[in-house]
Amino acid sequence: MGKGEPHGLRTAHCWDVAMFNFDSWSTKALVSHIGGLDRKIARLEAERVAAIGALDKARSNSGQESAVSQDLLSRETGISRRRAKEMTDMSRALGELPQIAEAFSFGEISLEVARQLVKFATPDRDGDLANQAKDWSEDHAASVARKERAISAREARKSHEERSVKWFYDEDRRHINFRAVLPAADGELLASAIARRAKKLYDKNSPTPYAARCADALMEMASAEPESKGAIGRAAVILVAEVGEISAAAGAIEVGDGFCSVDVARRLMCDSTMQLVLRDSEGQIAALGVNSRSVPEKLARVVRARDKTCQFPGCDKTRFTEIHHVIHVADGGKTVLRNLALICFAHHHLIHEGGWRLEGSIPGGLRFISPDGRVYEVGARAA
Ligand SMILES: [Zn+2]
Ligand SMILES: [Zn+2]
Repeated sequence: MGKGEPHGLRTAHCWDVAMFNFDSWSTKALVSHIGGLDRKIARLEAERVAAIGALDKARSNSGQESAVSQDLLSRETGISRRRAKEMTDMSRALGELPQIAEAFSFGEISLEVARQLVKFATPDRDGDLANQAKDWSEDHAASVARKERAISAREARKSHEERSVKWFYDEDRRHINFRAVLPAADGELLASAIARRAKKLYDKNSPTPYAARCADALMEMASAEPESKGAIGRAAVILVAEVGEISAAAGAIEVGDGFCSVDVARRLMCDSTMQLVLRDSEGQIAALGVNSRSVPEKLARVVRARDKTCQFPGCDKTRFTEIHHVIHVADGGKTVLRNLALICFAHHHLIHEGGWRLEGSIPGGLRFISPDGRVYEVGARAA
């Protein structure tokens, strides 16, 4: 911005470079000044998060979805939709964490540290974490958050074992209520399948409430052929991971608004329509995967024609199948015919989350190795 340019409240004088002339400053004075600026910036960031929270609250009191206020923000300000959503979520989380919120508002912890804290902090740890985090760097906060969120294989298995769908009648027996509890990754797949169909069924300006559109979408899915396009397994999910996390042995990967284990993320990467957002260690987006199916439909058809049934020893399922990468993409495996095998949904779960290993290729013969080391060979055949 040039000198003498009138610019609303910022007078031309404020932008005079002479204002920022630090030539005569000592190193000590500069460092302390920068520290002070950091706190000021954190206070301003906190104020912005609080204001976004207030906007969200006002909107939801008037019955609007929070997406509406996020749209408004991205239209009227420079904040992207994704960031607006992140800050809305953050503001809500901080509502339950008064001491972290206070430290943030005093500039004692930065936006980035607060962003990491809300990923795992709980009200009973609010005070302790607010104190500790004052000394944390952004990198340290990110690594603490990663460790805190790490999902052990046992926990992943537990959340899979606790899956359930129940239904029961209302008192007047005119409605059935459904209650489904699913591991985050599976739930995201189902939710995304419902949302996609609901979007297709109705015009954007339709007066039908969103929840009712979703009910229609679910009914349509129930009446569709299981093998038809748009089966639940083909729904789209967004995985957010840090570079290296996908090939790590343990950890937690963001899937939609929840978390899943690395094993689950690897299973999703094998065969689903998904967008992988890779972040570098600073949390910046390093790469954006395309929102497309990991195995192109043409190739999937060839694999299905070749394998016919699930390749797991003794399994002859032909429906609800997925395609497994023998060598995973994260380990350098390619999406080519010889690296792919048809696996039913249940066995795909078992391989990734149950500790099985696969070696070889279909034309040369596949070896399935159980967690306790037993080897099952699936015979070689013409490709
Ligand atoms: Zn797989
Ligand atoms: Zn099977």
